[in-house]
Amino acid sequence: MRKINLVLLGAPGSGKGTQAKILSEYYGIENISLGDILRQEASHNTALGKSVKKYMNEGVLVPDEIIKEVIASKIDKTGFILDGFPRNINQATILQKILEESGSSLDKVIYLEVNQDTAVRRLSGRRVCKNCGALYHVVTMAPKQTNICDRCASELVVREDDKETTVRKRWEVFMNETHSLIDYYRKQDKLLDIDGNQDKDEVFERIKETFNTHKYNNKVV
Ligand code: AMP
Repeated sequence: MRKINLVLLGAPGSGKGTQAKILSEYYGIENISLGDILRQEASHNTALGKSVKKYMNEGVLVPDEIIKEVIASKIDKTGFILDGFPRNINQATILQKILEESGSSLDKVIYLEVNQDTAVRRLSGRRVCKNCGALYHVVTMAPKQTNICDRCASELVVREDDKETTVRKRWEVFMNETHSLIDYYRKQDKLLDIDGNQDKDEVFERIKETFNTHKYNNKVV
């Protein structure tokens, strides 16, 4: 029996980051968040960080050649949840190759469907810990102390790309480049459609229910 390999797919503000963290803990699988990895690199001003910052701040995708290197170095064992990768068909092909080479495969793709109003409300109130990447919302997931992380006491900040014009750009990028993955994975019978408009606990319950229906209820497959 091996652990489950998952991808989380959804528009900006669909709750991918939040659900990835919950699922990772619940199923005991690694959470690989491309956005978090790239933000860490950017905040430490590494060579990689410098090369991706501009794209991220503009809300567009980092070129696939850069992403390919990063992801190949991160998927080193089975049992993971990918948050934010793949984001286009070419990246999906890259993922398939990496997995095939290690004798593994992708089990399911969770698609968190969300309407734009919900997403904008979430993103405009989102705060993220500068240090550990923990996520908060000023109304629905407020920290105990204003702008201080409950976990590591570091400062909470607004993500550069959560500003209104950049959010609009990220939606456009999702519709133009990432949306085609929904059909791509549906055809492979890997897609699980989840209503992502509910609060985080309800969304997680729906994911668990769907897993039970697909007999992924033993935490491993
Ligand atoms: P996220 O935290 O997933 O919303 O990602 C934030 C930003 O990081 C995106 O708007 C992109 O600029 C970049 N990024 C994250 N994942 C990818 C990816 N798979 N391909 C290209 N760019 C990405």
